[in-house]
Amino acid sequence: MFCGSECFIIKRLWWSDPGGDVICYEVGAVPRRDEGWLRRWRESLQVVDSVRVAPRDAATFEVPAGHGFRILSVEGPQVGDLNLWNADDLSERFFSGKTRQLHATHVTRGDRLWSSMPGIRAMATITHDTLEWYGWDEEGGGVHDVIGTRCDPYTNRLLKGVDYHHCCHSNLTRAMARRLDRPASEVEPLIHDVLNVFMCTGFTLDTHQYFMKASPVRPGDHLEFLADINLLGALSACPGGDCGSSHSDDRTPCYPLQVDILAPSEEVLASFEPEPANAYDRSHGMTEA
Ligand SMILES: [Zn+2]
Repeated sequence: MFCGSECFIIKRLWWSDPGGDVICYEVGAVPRRDEGWLRRWRESLQVVDSVRVAPRDAATFEVPAGHGFRILSVEGPQVGDLNLWNADDLSERFFSGKTRQLHATHVTRGDRLWSSMPGIRAMATITHDTLEWYGWDEEGGGVHDVIGTRCDPYTNRLLKGVDYHHCCHSNLTRAMARRLDRPASEVEPLIHDVLNVFMCTGFTLDTHQYFMKASPVRPGDHLEFLADINLLGALSACPGGDCGSSHSDDRTPCYPLQVDILAPSEEVLASFEPEPANAYDRSHGMTEA
């Protein structure tokens, strides 16, 4: 017999070891869709619509629950900044911080994109990633990060003292203003921290600062998602282009991006269940919530 008090002592020693890394969130406990079903879903997909995102601008798109979308590099290496909302309730939006905690600083096939509280559920699942081969480089860099927020005109003003109107934050704001037919000032609070699609980033090993390097993305590369709920998306083609030199200016070559909307067969869709909202009762320990 080994797992009596000895086991407890060993555990205590292990937990108190200052050099021991403890993974904060047990990613193995994250609910996932059945792999066999996902394979049948992928095999049945057909492109039903395509949206073009102009360089230094953004576009919006809708994806019904159970359908898919893929972000495609076209014409040249280009990074995209992605926002996602619950199409039926725009107060529920992509939560990059929780996605980072649950998965990693960078996401790939099998990882899920989580929504803000109180809904906090998977909004989308990454089902294919042609840049999965990149993994982690020797400087700690990876692709598709959930650590950068999005380039924005306020930080640019602080650092450079000039106004630039085609940062991803502004591109996403204009796209949502057009989508909702509302003024920019009204829709701006809807814009949130992004998934940096195709962007190659990390933290420097010595000072732990956020760095970027030229994305390995090439035309034809794509990142594909299953919509776990009804989604409204907005994608910006970052003014940084491949983000290998500068951003927040008009100097860097930029290219369009494409979003393909994908529909599965009726048969596969019939067996799809949308992701349920989080089951927490929201009482927060109070008798009256
Ligand atoms: Zn940007």
